[in-house]
Amino acid sequence: MAKQIVEMEISAAKMELPDTKTVTFKWPEGYEQEFKTGQFITVYWPDTTNYKRAYSLSSCALDRGFYEVTVKRDGKMGTRIVDWAKVGDKMFVIPPVGRFLPVYEENKHLICIAGGSGVTPFRGFVREATRRGLKTRITILYSVKTTSDIIFNEEFRELEQQNPFFKFHVTCTRLGAADPWPGRRGRINAEWVKEHICDLPNTVFYACGPNELVDATEALVLEEMKVPKEQMKTEKWG
Ligand SMILES: Cc1cc2nc3c(=O)[nH]c(=O)nc-3n(C[C@H](O)[C@H](O)[C@H](O)COP(=O)(O)OP(=O)(O)OC[C@H]3O[C@@H](n4cnc5c(N)ncnc54)[C@H](O)[C@@H]3O)c2cc1C
Repeated sequence: MAKQIVEMEISAAKMELPDTKTVTFKWPEGYEQEFKTGQFITVYWPDTTNYKRAYSLSSCALDRGFYEVTVKRDGKMGTRIVDWAKVGDKMFVIPPVGRFLPVYEENKHLICIAGGSGVTPFRGFVREATRRGLKTRITILYSVKTTSDIIFNEEFRELEQQNPFFKFHVTCTRLGAADPWPGRRGRINAEWVKEHICDLPNTVFYACGPNELVDATEALVLEEMKVPKEQMKTEKWG
């Protein structure tokens, strides 16, 4: 079937955090679409067809029959989806596109740097690698304000158990001094990123999310760490 815009029913809506919801769009009968993990869909409501917004897939290309996206309450579309989208609602879905794709080669190491909601496509990256039993190393370096802001915490911890090539590391930037969190604190910096590099020429860096975060990560990896541009992939959300 050619790429076509299709109205899809929301078959599940799960609050991941108080401000973040995963929505599942069920493919209608006869819908078949080839796409790749890491791509994004564009959605709009039937009553406001000129207001379209893109969302990275948090599901992966092995998931057939549905698309999942994970949305943070932000702006008009983000708020409407998080606060109002419910099972049975319908939205139009423009099929997946995009070049923010995992390089699934055995000798590669993907270092995925995320802040807040920018972690959503990396769930797809790890899900596919784990299900396929790939030996591609994937490390997520994830910056959040507090431990209550970690999206997919349990899921990533479970994937770590299932996949010996996957590691999930979190740093918290705004925890109170009395908080018992035993993990890292402070912003993502070059020193922390370097700790996780074992073979720089075979490392591919990924950064995704709001422009400010992606720009800061690019500056860190390309300018401060002097990594060649070809080894970095970014997805800017605006
Ligand atoms: C490729 C791609 C993938 C994306 N994937 C995701 C994803 O997986 N998850 C996700 O949550 N988002 C994702 N986004 C962002 C998403 O498309 C929306 O932009 C987001 O949900 C905000 O909705 P909006 O554009 O309707 O916000 P708008 O209403 O247009 O607002 C845009 C921004 O301006 C701010 N703003 C609005 N009004 C004011 C005001 N009066 N004063 C100050 N600030 C204001 C809002 O807080 C918001 O940050 C992605 C974007 C792209 C391009």
